[in-house]
Amino acid sequence: MNAYRKLARTNHPDVNKEPGAEKKFKEISNAYEVLSDDEKRSLYDKYGEAGLKGAGMGMGDSGNPFDIFESIFEGMGGMGGMGGMGGGRAAGNRPLQGEDESYNLILDFKEAVFGVDKEIEITRLESCNTCDGSGAKPGTKSTKCSTCGGQGQVVSSTRTPLGVFQQVMTCSVCGGSGESSTPCSTCGGDGRVRRTKRISLKVPAGVDSGSRLRVRSEGNAGRRGGGPGDLYVFIDVIPDPVLKRDGTNILYTSKVSYVDAILGTTIKVPTVDGMVDLKIPAGTQPGTTLVMAKKGVPSLDKRYPRGDQLVRVQVEIPKRLSREERELIEELADLSKAKTANSRR
Ligand SMILES: [Zn+2]
Ligand SMILES: [Zn+2]
Repeated sequence: MNAYRKLARTNHPDVNKEPGAEKKFKEISNAYEVLSDDEKRSLYDKYGEAGLKGAGMGMGDSGNPFDIFESIFEGMGGMGGMGGMGGGRAAGNRPLQGEDESYNLILDFKEAVFGVDKEIEITRLESCNTCDGSGAKPGTKSTKCSTCGGQGQVVSSTRTPLGVFQQVMTCSVCGGSGESSTPCSTCGGDGRVRRTKRISLKVPAGVDSGSRLRVRSEGNAGRRGGGPGDLYVFIDVIPDPVLKRDGTNILYTSKVSYVDAILGTTIKVPTVDGMVDLKIPAGTQPGTTLVMAKKGVPSLDKRYPRGDQLVRVQVEIPKRLSREERELIEELADLSKAKTANSRR
């Protein structure tokens, strides 16, 4: 997060030439804006983007249906707008934005590293065709709610030792609309029905377990003309048996025989690009880390370079020696003693 913050402060006029790059940068700047202001951040934590919009701090209306915004927010905790805005106090006739939906996506190691196009099947509430989203049975007329007299609110009084407390509450019969109508038989009056839809998702290279992707407007339909919620895709990555992710770097441990460590050699090492030759220099010490540059994970932020693969060399000392090997090692030991004695003279 800190590294990101630093970068966001620096303006890169020549970010990159990809189409849409500028838009993405704008969104990233906005993400930074949210983070930089505690108040806004807590609003975001509570209500998601809708919270910021409600507070008059719009996030900019980007038409881009897909962005990596959420993956930058990993670790921020909370699900932002998840279901948050649906309930709404004293909703009245105001449009209600649809709730956000979530989807868990499992990727294999390489899909997360290089990105992948996925077709996923989601279910969400869509506007009911029978009643055109109104929730009222077609052909019927709505009447004034008899419970609240069309006010949409009721006053409840509570008697306590300190006096009578009055509280204004949303009318539970009409849900605050002030109208009562015969409910649509298809959607039961909600104005929305649950449907399944296939959408294609472009997962960017460099995502990891815990990354969230937001697909705009693919959440539940709004009510009374409110806009749809967003779809949040939660990513989980199946680990690789030998390659370990460490941010954009990949960690790998390679066993090298003591002879190879002394004399040097070239070994084959598994990488996300397949098997790659790695030179073990003569005299490599146990625990040495060798860097295979740019063999790691591409950064989500394209302005950062691809990560490296870091190979830790584990030098293997044989537990058993053949007779011949033993003789040779002893010869080596004698040589080494002589060498020490010479240098002392
Ligand atoms: Zn309906
Ligand atoms: Zn009512």
